[in-house]
Amino acid sequence: MRVHGKLDLNHHDPGETFGWDKDEAKAQLTDEVAELNELQMMLFAEHKRSVLVVLQAMDAGGKDGVLREVLVGLNPAGVKVTPFGVPTEDELAHDFLWRIHKHTPADGEIGVFNRSHYEDVLVVRVKKLAPPDVWRKRYGHIRNFEQTLVDEGTAVVKLYLNISNEEQRERLQDRVDSPDERWKFRLGDLDDRKLWPDYMKAFRDALVRTSTPTAPWYVVPADRKWVRNLAVARILKHTIATLDPKLPPAEPGIEGMKVV
Ligand code: AMP
Ligand code: MG
Repeated sequence: MRVHGKLDLNHHDPGETFGWDKDEAKAQLTDEVAELNELQMMLFAEHKRSVLVVLQAMDAGGKDGVLREVLVGLNPAGVKVTPFGVPTEDELAHDFLWRIHKHTPADGEIGVFNRSHYEDVLVVRVKKLAPPDVWRKRYGHIRNFEQTLVDEGTAVVKLYLNISNEEQRERLQDRVDSPDERWKFRLGDLDDRKLWPDYMKAFRDALVRTSTPTAPWYVVPADRKWVRNLAVARILKHTIATLDPKLPPAEPGIEGMKVV
């Protein structure tokens, strides 16, 4: 699942189950989220390092589902979710990282980007919102930007939720058919869907060019929500565990004290 070197998205099955059993996986998710919660508490208490989780996917790929079903168990005081939509006029008047950098997590925090600076080499490339000589240079800028974060104490982990074209069709159709979900559907989603092969190419290049040992990309099979959720929980747990956060020492003289 972790991307290094070459990547052929055709070889990553969006319906992969890793041989997991659905009911067991759901039960395990509860355990994983509890462990994640414990690690987050340590990270928060330590207040020295942070974690940045980047979520990218095609429409209906499950970014919101991950927030709702995996990150829900964490202490909201330590989690900062930032969605990145179409840039404002002011944002467009600056370099592409300007609006991103101010939302990176502070010490002790887990920052989650719902879409991110990667849109600037995905939608921007596919829809030709900037010329190739501009977006091509961005892969290098992204690598350097993320390395800066890593060097200054942020663990960076990037998740591509990999859904199939057919699964996207079904989910978009469900949004159209269900009055409760219709608000999520935009006619523009169909334009993006028509450009599917171009997006796959753009994702492939983005993942290959920016997956590094310290800021890796993971391709998460996402056609089955229960697989996606457990895979994401495990990757996040592994990422925080690698930091090995420690509770800060108590002030001297507190141990054994009676509070009156
Ligand atoms: P949603 O995540 O469904 O609310 O949609 C957000 C929209 O913003 C998507 O259609 C993205 O492609 C678009 N978007 C996000 N970042 C950029 C960007 N840097 N340039 C152009 N469009 C963007
Ligand atoms: Mg959308």
